[in-house]
Formats: sequence, C-alpha cells, structure tokens
Amino acid sequence: MLIDTHCHFDVEEFDADRSEVAARTLVAGVDTVVIPGYVARYWQRLLDLCERSTLPRLLPVVGLHPCYINEHEMADLELLEQLLQSRPDIVAVGEIGLDYLPDELKAPAVRARQQTFFRAQLELAARYRKPVVLHVRKAHADVIAQLRERKFREGGIVHAFSGGIEEARHYARLGFCLGIGGPLTYDQSRRLREVVGAMPLESLVLETDAPDMTPQPHRSPEVSRTRNSPEYLPSVAEALARLKGLAIDEVVAATRRQSQAVLRLTA
Ligand SMILES: [Zn+2]
Repeated sequence: MLIDTHCHFDVEEFDADRSEVAARTLVAGVDTVVIPGYVARYWQRLLDLCERSTLPRLLPVVGLHPCYINEHEMADLELLEQLLQSRPDIVAVGEIGLDYLPDELKAPAVRARQQTFFRAQLELAARYRKPVVLHVRKAHADVIAQLRERKFREGGIVHAFSGGIEEARHYARLGFCLGIGGPLTYDQSRRLREVVGAMPLESLVLETDAPDMTPQPHRSPEVSRTRNSPEYLPSVAEALARLKGLAIDEVVAATRRQSQAVLRLTA
C-alpha cells in the first residue's frame, strides 16, 4: 500500500465529500495520509480530523508555513511546543522552511522573519526529537545552512522538491528524503525528472500535495484547476516507476519503507 506523505486533506475543498474521497483513496491503494499544518488556527481542526480517522489512517504534522509568515505570531510557537509535549501522535513538525519565490516574500525583512520562525521550529523539532516536513523554494542554500548550523539530526522530508542534483545530495546526506508529487507527471518538468532519475530510489517518498498539484492524467482541460486528491497518488508512483524503469511494486514497497523510516512509523 502507498503512503501519501503530504496532503492537505483538512482544507475546506474536501468538506463536501471527505468520507467518499477517503473511501476511494483506500480502494486506490493508499492506506496512510500525512496531513501537514500551515497556520496555528487550523491545527486543532487537523488534529481532530486525524483522531477520528480509521482507514486510510491520517497522521498529523503541525507547524507554521513560510508562505503564511504574516499570519504567524510568537505565541504560536508556544502553542506548538505545548502540542509537541501533549500529543505524541504528531509525527513531525511542518510544514516549515523558507520561500523566496513570490515577490511578497522576497523583501529582506520578510526573509528575516521567515528565518526566525524556521530556526525556532527547527529548535523545537530537535528538542522533541521530531523529523521536519520542509517547504523550500529558491532558498535551498539558506535552509541547508540552518540545518547544518543547528546540527539538526532528526531528518525529514523536503516536500515538493524543486532543487538541483547537488542540493538533493546535500539533503540526502543530512538524512532527508525528497517528496515527489504531481509535477513529475508534467511535460515541462524535465529538470525534475533529471534530478529524480539521478537520485537513488532510497531517497524518495511520494506525495500528492492535494488539493494542489494534480497529476497530469487527472487534470481536466476544461477547468483551470482540477482538485487534486490523495486517491490520485498511484499516478505519481506509476510515473516514478516508468522514469526509473522499475516495476510498480518495487516503487510502492521502497517508498513505503522510506516514509516509515523517516517519519518513524511503526507500520
Ligand atoms: Zn503543503
């Protein structure tokens, strides 16, 4: 069975039909879905959803996303620490990181604020021995520098990896897996396919990033944005198997093993 290591299944896009989507996800061969947090006001919603889940099993990750930097407050870090103390079911801290891509996140003061929150959350993850789920765009050098500076040893997942081969190898040496999703299926993703092709299968895990990043086979030409869903994860596994010239079963088994190891899941 597959593990979706990054899916925003708590967002309102799924409110109308969440249980039907969950049932189809299980039938599609996905038995575990990891749900990353992004702003503090939705953490409880996420934790409640995971607590209610049966199959597929939903696993909570809690953190402050760099793209929502203007919504975060210092008090959120205290709440994060309280949750890490009181909720052993939280599997990782995330999604956290640095994003220098959009114009509104580029200004030096905004970058500095992102770095402050990233550093503080890395510190909490280290203190509570949790891996991290990273969101990184155009900021790999700074993220790798902070991981090194902190001597961060808990590892984690670089979600929706978009860097180059050297960066991919740096992360692997630091104990990270790369999260591979829908973009692998897009025609324009030649560089991503080169990087994924060059990295060992043992460094990769699968994700949908639903409701975004819909894999090509499920994109509809009539609507500008087709909702992505955890039930579409097999399309990503198939694209990876094709790229690597491997049997699908091998990709399913290896990515499951890596997801379990990096998130320290018991099954
Ligand atoms: Zn995400």
